Amino acid sequence: MNQIWNPEYETMAREERRDLQFKRLQMTLRWAYDNVPFHHERWTALKLKPGDIRSLDDLAKVPFTAKADFTAAYPYGLFAVPLEKVVRIHSSSGTKSTPVVVGYTRGDLNTWAELCARVAVGGGARSHDVAQIAFGYGLTTGAFGMHAGLERIGATVIPAGTGNTRRQLQIMRNFSTTVLVCTPSYAMYIAESAADMGFDPRELGLRVGLFGSEPWTNQLRDELERRTGMSATDNYGLSELMGPGVSYECQMKDGLHINEDHFLVEVVDPQTGELVPEGKEGELVFTSLTKEAVPAIRYRTGDLSSVSYRPCVCGRTFARHTKVYARTDDMLIIRGINVYPSQVEAVLMDIERVEPHFQIIVSREDVLDQMEVQIEVEPSFFPDAMAKLLEFQHHVEEQLRQELGVRVRVRLVEPKTLPRHTGKAQRVIDKRVTG
Ligand SMILES: [Zn+2]
Repeated sequence: MNQIWNPEYETMAREERRDLQFKRLQMTLRWAYDNVPFHHERWTALKLKPGDIRSLDDLAKVPFTAKADFTAAYPYGLFAVPLEKVVRIHSSSGTKSTPVVVGYTRGDLNTWAELCARVAVGGGARSHDVAQIAFGYGLTTGAFGMHAGLERIGATVIPAGTGNTRRQLQIMRNFSTTVLVCTPSYAMYIAESAADMGFDPRELGLRVGLFGSEPWTNQLRDELERRTGMSATDNYGLSELMGPGVSYECQMKDGLHINEDHFLVEVVDPQTGELVPEGKEGELVFTSLTKEAVPAIRYRTGDLSSVSYRPCVCGRTFARHTKVYARTDDMLIIRGINVYPSQVEAVLMDIERVEPHFQIIVSREDVLDQMEVQIEVEPSFFPDAMAKLLEFQHHVEEQLRQELGVRVRVRLVEPKTLPRHTGKAQRVIDKRVTG
């Protein structure tokens, strides 16, 4: 099979694609205006009609939407079709706030499978593969999107779900799994558990890892690939847009290809909302071009990245965005300085003898923010003398201070004492919030 799932669209000439994008954009704006009162009212207040958008650049006239619009419209306020036409509902977990609810028409599900098929093939999966999906099968989108995409390419799909890591490993061994689909932190935990069970995870025969739904660094990728022998790629999506399938890495692992025939990307300054030039970091904003049930119009993702239109060696002509390390949702403000957990991960992964598990505890002492990073060190390290341990701790503190620009306390803990995660890693305990 070709390395590219849908060459017609994935390698389309840029000019031709811009024409297609503009046609689809006009249809989407008209669809949203006619069928979603929320959009109709907002544009009317600005004296704006879909017909006023006469080029792709005119899109900048259209107001942004954000997560708050979904929660305000809970549950069905942004739907453009009656429930009768909706064949699937997904939702965010909503543990912290009102959940985001999205719906899919039959056509939307078809598109979703197509886009996730591109993700799967881009990451190296083929029809002869056995793909174990260790995302939760529930209201969230991760499992169902990749499930449909992998089925579409003809792979054998095992809907393992999350948790019960020993059983996951048993399935892997007995069913000859070659593709693993989950969060990168769960993949790391699975690899570690294999070692605990007394075998080398490289013996599992895993070839390909399709990882997403949390920010992760290239350093963690290298470590995962080293431990498991598989090729690990990142993919990106949000349930507000569709779920996985918005963008994906190819074998070059040099940026995520955006499925631009279905999503129009803009990068804006998070403060001013102004467009930033190619290659400059800003907030990713997406407009869906084919969605029926819940069209996304200039949706502000809160994710920081930059976009490049340089052609990729793989032959795809899609724009690429850099790996999303920073979600504005994850940002911590420590004594006025913005800190992202992925920065901590990047520093730790570059230090030898540190295990890829850490926890950040933020608290407030005498009105000052305190950040503590708890890290596990390799078992062989602990017999060392106390002085060496302290020296090492100071070394890590200094590395973190240089990267983050803020003083951090480091606490070394024994191996396997920090929590492991079967879904998205919860790296931060912020005690300032709960008092
Ligand atoms: Zn590529």
